[in-house]
Amino acid sequence: PASTLDVEKEQAWLTRAMESALSDFRKLRKKLDNDINKEALAIFDLFTHLLNDPMLGNDLKAQIQKGDRADWALRQVVESYSNRFARMSDAYLRERAQDIRELGQRLLYFLYNTEHEQQQLEKPIILVVRELTASILATLPKDKLLAVVSLEGAANSHAAILSRALGIPAIMGVSLNLKQINGKRGIVDGYSGKLFISPGKQIVAEYRALAYEELQLSKMVNDAIFEPAFTQDGTRIELLLNAGLSADTNIAINQGIDGIGLYRTEISFLLQHRFPSEEEQILQYRAVLDAYPDRPVVMRTLDVGGDKPLPYLPIEEDNPFLGWRGIRFTLDHPDIFLIQLRAMMRANSEHHNLRILLPMVSGAKELDDTHALIQQAYQEAVKLDASIVMPKIGIMLEVPSMLYLLPMIANKIDFVSVGTNDLTQYLLAVDRNNAHVADVYDSMHPAVIMALKQIQQTCLQYSIPVCVCGELAGDPIGALLLIGLGYTTLSMNASNVAKVKYLVRHSARSDLQLLAQKALMQSYGHDIYNMMQVHFESLGFAGFIRAGKK
Ligand code: PEP
Ligand code: MG
Repeated sequence: PASTLDVEKEQAWLTRAMESALSDFRKLRKKLDNDINKEALAIFDLFTHLLNDPMLGNDLKAQIQKGDRADWALRQVVESYSNRFARMSDAYLRERAQDIRELGQRLLYFLYNTEHEQQQLEKPIILVVRELTASILATLPKDKLLAVVSLEGAANSHAAILSRALGIPAIMGVSLNLKQINGKRGIVDGYSGKLFISPGKQIVAEYRALAYEELQLSKMVNDAIFEPAFTQDGTRIELLLNAGLSADTNIAINQGIDGIGLYRTEISFLLQHRFPSEEEQILQYRAVLDAYPDRPVVMRTLDVGGDKPLPYLPIEEDNPFLGWRGIRFTLDHPDIFLIQLRAMMRANSEHHNLRILLPMVSGAKELDDTHALIQQAYQEAVKLDASIVMPKIGIMLEVPSMLYLLPMIANKIDFVSVGTNDLTQYLLAVDRNNAHVADVYDSMHPAVIMALKQIQQTCLQYSIPVCVCGELAGDPIGALLLIGLGYTTLSMNASNVAKVKYLVRHSARSDLQLLAQKALMQSYGHDIYNMMQVHFESLGFAGFIRAGKK
């Protein structure tokens, strides 16, 4: 059955947050009263006044009744208020638009800071939301979540990646009337991205059969999960895990992987209400490093911005994906960066299995500046603990400029990790988060395939270890194509490891090389896909891709 979120609960959550905000404003006002800071006083009076205005309460309520979560309702209402103010002819009132936004940010803070009890769900549900976020996924019990449908976003939005990592099918960028689906039965086909509301008997029967096949497939691939991933012709493929969710550290798949290829540290930052302290970060990173004492763990430094804004550090910009994200953000906040770097190094004092990965590097200067900070963090950390070592440092290859720059910076890095999600986005100039252009976003576009070949060749030439950690590496077709292109290290989420391992063990690298050579001569992405599809069908792998999926 489909379900929109419970209106009353959202309302209560918002009310609690508004009450906390009001009491906080009272406290601050009192404090400032002594400081005789008149301007600041006025702003808290204005906030208090606005919060007590029934109009705001009513508008928020109406928005929640439309099916919005409390935080989304708040964003919508604040946006419309501030736009209204911004259009006013009076200069004083126009300036109030900014105050409204600030009030909105403060309320959001209290919203996330107020215990939003884990939703109790009696029956398993299909969750339908306007915009899927990490915090929505965090507040719902995973065992009751059958699937997620999001009106906004696209297949490689971060929330979709997270959902996949949890093994929950998600379809994104769906147009739907939220009002007409509550409580109805539905089928979510994560392969094709199709959604059926109140499906007829025949469709239900078809999907029951498919679900059964999927279960059989899952059993089959999990049989050999602990075996090493050798191709039929004897090439060892390293299979690593993409992690970053706390649950990742205690899953069974751990014995079937060669290490952690991408630990996205930002996920825990996104789920909190403030920057985690150095000590908190040390504990968290140590838990991960301890879980794989004899295997490499690649931790990526904070990659916020783009579609991963921090709730407690809002950034407003017109083109977030071209803006303040990844290494650009942390270089501009050396305090935050140094804490994280030190925490990583200190957490690594026992096992020495940490490698540090830098996101969104686009030029040599960023790399130099980062190295300086890494040196500083290392000096500071060593003073505290002499057993600390300098970890290996690598970069994400996800900004196209680095394709050309790689030979020149080869001596500055220890390894490369290819982020096909962003590489596709930036090479094809297509927002990975925008449903309108989802069909232009294609990681099997010939230009992407050619870029991947070039990266592989350059890394080979300069002896730089290279791994692919974008979603393409965990995609059955993508993984085999990458092996054909010469990659031997792939990092993917837990739900794909067993499938990819099975495919590797049942493939000959020489066949995949021939396919990749052919792929490199195609003009159309769909021809590459179709060629791979034919290959999958001829080897009996059709169940891995569910023909028709694109
Ligand atoms: C990528 O861009 O491919 C990647 C792995 O990083 P993220 O999806 O977190 O941007
Ligand atoms: Mg990326």
